[in-house]
Amino acid sequence: MRTAILTDIHANLPALEAVIARANELGVERWVCLGDTVGYAAEPNECCALVRERVSFSLLGNHDAAVAGRMSYDYYYAAARDALEWTTGQMTADNLAWLKSLPYTVREGAIEYSHGSPLQPDQYEYIFVLDQAAELLPVLGDLADVTFIGHSHLPRAFSLSDDGADDVYEEEVEIRPGAKYIISIGSVGQPRDHDPRACFGIWDDVARKVEFHRVAYPVEPAAAKILEAGLSEHFARRLFVGT
Ligand code: ZN
Repeated sequence: MRTAILTDIHANLPALEAVIARANELGVERWVCLGDTVGYAAEPNECCALVRERVSFSLLGNHDAAVAGRMSYDYYYAAARDALEWTTGQMTADNLAWLKSLPYTVREGAIEYSHGSPLQPDQYEYIFVLDQAAELLPVLGDLADVTFIGHSHLPRAFSLSDDGADDVYEEEVEIRPGAKYIISIGSVGQPRDHDPRACFGIWDDVARKVEFHRVAYPVEPAAAKILEAGLSEHFARRLFVGT
C-alpha cells in the first residue's frame, strides 16, 4: 500500500492542490495528514475540505490546536498569533468541530504518526537535527519501527539503534530491520529548507521505503491571498524562497 503523508499545509491551497495532483500520478492508494492544516496562509476552510475528503486520519498540529481552542496562543509570536485569530474567525463550524476532534498521535502496528516528537506529543517538541533524534535513544524500545512526524517543515530521516543515531536522509529511505526510524516529512504549504517547492512523503509498506517528493506550485496566488486577507507580508514573502 502506498500512503501519501502530508503535513503542515498551513492553509496554502495552491500548494495542496499541486501535491494532490502529483501524489495521484505517483499511484497513491491512501492519504494521511500529520496536522497543521491551518495557520499562516489564507485558505484554511478550502484546505480542510480537501484534506477531510481524502485522509484516513489527520492529527492535531499545534496551529490546529490553537485555532480549536485546545492550546494557548501564548506559544506564538505576534504575527503568528494574529494569523491564528484571523483563522479562527474564518473557520466554518463544521471545520472547527473537525479540528477539535483530531488526535495527537495515531499508531498502526509498527508505524506511528505524530505532529512533533512522539515522546510527549502534546508538547510539540521539534526533531530536525541529529542531537534531537539521539535524545530518543534511551526510549528506543518504546518507539514504533517508523515514526512519521511533521512540525519542523524540514524533510529529514534519522535511524536509531543500539549503535546510536544516524542521519539517513535521501530522496528514498530504505527501512531496514534492526533499527527504528524518525522520518520528518517536510511541509506542503510552507517549506523552510530554502527550497520553495511543496514537500510530501509516500510510505510504501511493501517496498519498505519512504519517498520524499517536491512539487513546484504557483506561489503568486497563495501570496496574493495572504496579502488580501491582511495577514503578515512576511508569510507571503517566505513562500517564494522557502524559509
Ligand atoms: Zn507547521
